[in-house]
Amino acid sequence: MDEQKKMPKSLYGMKPNEILGALGLEKSYQAKQVHQWLIRCVTDFEQMTDLPKMLRADLDHLMPSLTSSTVIDSRTDSSGATKLAIRLHDAKVVECVLLTDKEERKTACLSSQVGCAMGCSFCRTGTMGLVRDLQAFEIIEQFVHLRRIAPDTSHIVFMGMGEPMANFAEVVQAIKYLHDPQGFNIGFPRITISTCGLVPGILKLAEINLPVKLAVSLVTADNGLRTHLMPVNKAYPLDDLKTALLRYQHVAGKRFTLEYVMLSGQNTDSDSARRLAQFIRGMDVMVNLIPWNPASELDWQTPDAKEIAAFTRELDLLGVPYTRRFSRGRSVNGACGQLAAANPQ
Ligand code: SAH
Ligand code: SF4
Repeated sequence: MDEQKKMPKSLYGMKPNEILGALGLEKSYQAKQVHQWLIRCVTDFEQMTDLPKMLRADLDHLMPSLTSSTVIDSRTDSSGATKLAIRLHDAKVVECVLLTDKEERKTACLSSQVGCAMGCSFCRTGTMGLVRDLQAFEIIEQFVHLRRIAPDTSHIVFMGMGEPMANFAEVVQAIKYLHDPQGFNIGFPRITISTCGLVPGILKLAEINLPVKLAVSLVTADNGLRTHLMPVNKAYPLDDLKTALLRYQHVAGKRFTLEYVMLSGQNTDSDSARRLAQFIRGMDVMVNLIPWNPASELDWQTPDAKEIAAFTRELDLLGVPYTRRFSRGRSVNGACGQLAAANPQ
């Protein structure tokens, strides 16, 4: 059997034949057994009861933990949202959240990066800057940690820390593994990638024909204001974004979501509604209204019920289709845009 120094950081992301090689197993059916136990999210080889006892002990000695990452903190709020802080192999910390909706459907909100380079001024993660990209196995392991808490977690959204399109290859690799019918078997339509509008990523997603759902953080359809709020708009202004989205829709043939973070006094007046109506013309979209989740270090305001109602009335008049997202997880800083783990330098 291999020496400890040759062991991989994680077995997640590997197919049975890769596990066979990585662990130096003699029988291919044993690699399949290990793979199945990984999908069941056991924590160590000792629990893999259909492997010979001696083998389990050997493997356990070589690899005491099946994940490269460890949960160091877990907080649950009154809405049932649970936020995990996860320490990675290099001591960096990433966060992910388990959300439960009215229908008891459980969604894993995963991070694609530690921090984020995009610098959106309303987002707590943006204040961290980019610490580093996550590898595919580190993305998968977030899901594993959440599944250990809630084995019936059925949906995935990339709305945690980071910009998934800026770490495209690893995110796609993780998605393919999480989708694998021999593995976690999460259907592509149950997986959503959310992007701040990185045009090359949107086009690449259309090209590779990965039938996941797409969400785009629009926030405002006013080009000047968008550049002010989201530096990405300098590189990819609204016209370019719309061209890319039209192309995506043409190829993918699917409705997508526009995330609209409502900032009091900024993007909720009738002019904003009109611009939004104009932006979506010719596209099949659902606008997801998200009242801004407060972050103490940021100076925006959450619109009150009256301001939100006035805005939605405008949208009704203009025939803009929208839903309102209930901000679960707020009190544990686990709602959208509130993830910002303290990280060692
Ligand atoms: N980087 C990707 C995905 C992570 S952000 C993106 O920007 O889409 C996930 C979602 O949280 C996005 O829709 C973003 O617009 C939203 N968001 C960020 N900060 C927020 C805040 N403080 N309140 C509410 N939503 C926020
Ligand atoms: Fe990054 Fe998304 Fe936050 Fe912008 S909203 S800083 S892209 S995580």
